[in-house]
Amino acid sequence: MTFQEGPAAAPVPDAGGHPAHAYARAIVRGLELAMLVVLVAVLVIAAGELARRSTLTGLAEEAVSRLPLAATALRGELDKQRALPAILSEDPTVREALRGNAAATLLVDEKLRRLQLSTRAAVIYVIDRDGRTIAASNFEETTSFVGRNYRFRRYFEGALAQGSAEQVALGTVSGRPGVYIARRVGASAETAEGVVVLKVELDDLEADWKAGGAPIYVADSRGIVVATSVPDWRFKTLRELSGEEAAEIRDSLQFGTGPLEPLPLKADSAFPGLVVDAGGRQFVDASAPVVGGLPGWRLHLLLPTVAPVAAAQSLARLVAGLAVALVLAAAALVLRRLSRRRAERAEEARRAIELEAKVADRTRDLGAANDRLTAEIGERARAEARVLSLRDDLAQANRLATLGQITAGVAHEINQPLAAIRTYSENAGLFLDRGDVETARANLATVVGLTRRIAEITDTLRGFARRGDAVQAPVEIEAAVDGALLILGSRIHASPAQVVRRSGAGGAAVLASRVRLEQVLVNLVRNALDALGEAPGGRVEIATAADEDGVRLTIADNGPGISDSVRATLFTPFATTKPNGLGLGLVIAGDIVTELGGTLRLDAGRAEGAAFTIELPRGRAP
Ligand code: ADP
Repeated sequence: MTFQEGPAAAPVPDAGGHPAHAYARAIVRGLELAMLVVLVAVLVIAAGELARRSTLTGLAEEAVSRLPLAATALRGELDKQRALPAILSEDPTVREALRGNAAATLLVDEKLRRLQLSTRAAVIYVIDRDGRTIAASNFEETTSFVGRNYRFRRYFEGALAQGSAEQVALGTVSGRPGVYIARRVGASAETAEGVVVLKVELDDLEADWKAGGAPIYVADSRGIVVATSVPDWRFKTLRELSGEEAAEIRDSLQFGTGPLEPLPLKADSAFPGLVVDAGGRQFVDASAPVVGGLPGWRLHLLLPTVAPVAAAQSLARLVAGLAVALVLAAAALVLRRLSRRRAERAEEARRAIELEAKVADRTRDLGAANDRLTAEIGERARAEARVLSLRDDLAQANRLATLGQITAGVAHEINQPLAAIRTYSENAGLFLDRGDVETARANLATVVGLTRRIAEITDTLRGFARRGDAVQAPVEIEAAVDGALLILGSRIHASPAQVVRRSGAGGAAVLASRVRLEQVLVNLVRNALDALGEAPGGRVEIATAADEDGVRLTIADNGPGISDSVRATLFTPFATTKPNGLGLGLVIAGDIVTELGGTLRLDAGRAEGAAFTIELPRGRAP
């Protein structure tokens, strides 16, 4: 039998779907259920049977244990009465009466009556040798035994022959059963004078037995019930009597004229020691010989089995049913757990597969995103390259525009000395013609001075016009300041002004050509020194600072500052207030800073002097 839910072997994915499968499964389920029902029934029946057997065994033991009490009571009842006939058989008055003494007979009658009353014997009487009753305890009653002949009684013959005899019989007068205890008067059968008889009725004992609840009976050696708590069973036989036996018993009037029917108890083959009565009631039948009873007596005690067996069986069946129910419930629970765990595992597996699929999807997505990103990065790099080249182009365009302005200025700047050179040269020629060599030489010296001036202008412009393709590398800003101050060393030395540094950039570097950067710084510091001139108390401060993104450098002075008119043309070429100035320094400085990706500006709103600030992006090694 299998308690498995669903197929135990390899799972069939579409098991539920196919109608043939569903039908087969329903049949298997039905068979399982039927087997379960049969199993439960067998268990319950087996439990009932076990309970029945153990109850019967217990009842048999109980019956056996109750036997001695019933037997002892019977024996006690008999023993109590046995002494009296023995004593009376020795009584001289009884002998006298038996010998025909009328007075003695009267005395015996009276004695027997008293004895009967005090011993609660049924009746006591004396029979002479011929079987005739000569004295009786009931001599006064209408049912008096006196004069009756009991020669036919077996106890009479037995007592005469053997000295004593006991017999169970129905009273011929009373019609009541009893045990007759007889004693011979006289030493031997030959000298016997008569017999003393005492009848014991067992009614009280039988009533006690009846009160005990369990049917009890005593069977004699021939299997005839001689005493019983069930009146109907009296004088019934345990076995079939032969016609001869029955006739003999009737002859002795032992049991009246009763039919001597068989006892309505049949052995039950279901269990050893079981009997069933006419009404179908079942008993456990325990028996034992009655020691001290009449020879061959056997006492039977019957305990009804039906009620206790039924009670025990129903209890056992209930317990078995409950146990089976518990086991089934536990099994169902375990199965439920197992199937739930199986479902959970399946669910986990399903989730794992789902997760794997998701991961694969994500990986694919990520791959695609990565590809897109790579493409974007490439695109951006290309764009940056384009921007860079654009910026270079812009710087160049700016420079060319500046150059355009410069060219116009240069034309103007150079035209004057050129015109002067022409005039001075022409005049020098005239002076030579006149022989005035001195003046001619002076004119020529002026011409030389003018050409030097023109050379100065063209040199500066050549430097400016050179494209900013000098090698760029990270340059520490402090090192650039050092370089600029070195170049300006003699100039600073000659000036009364004080140059002060406030270094806050640490090792911060910018990406630049060091020479060009120094050129910017030299220009700005020189302008400051120019502005301060020879005035005392002049001061130039070079301050640096750096943050995450960039570097800032400020060159400030406490000179006269820059007037609004100068400020308007500050970064235009040839704007100068200096007698020998070219007005190109700031223009070129601004151009270089722009080329490095930074800004150069005049700080606005200062109380005194002028300050220029350069801001450059941080340079990192490419
Ligand atoms: P140059 O020095 O040849 O005149 P620049 O372009 O360097 O040419 O300077 C332009 C003008 O700007 C200067 O002539 C001067 O009037 C003014 N200037 C520059 N720096 C300062 C400064 N620190 N203080 C006052 N004026 C200044």
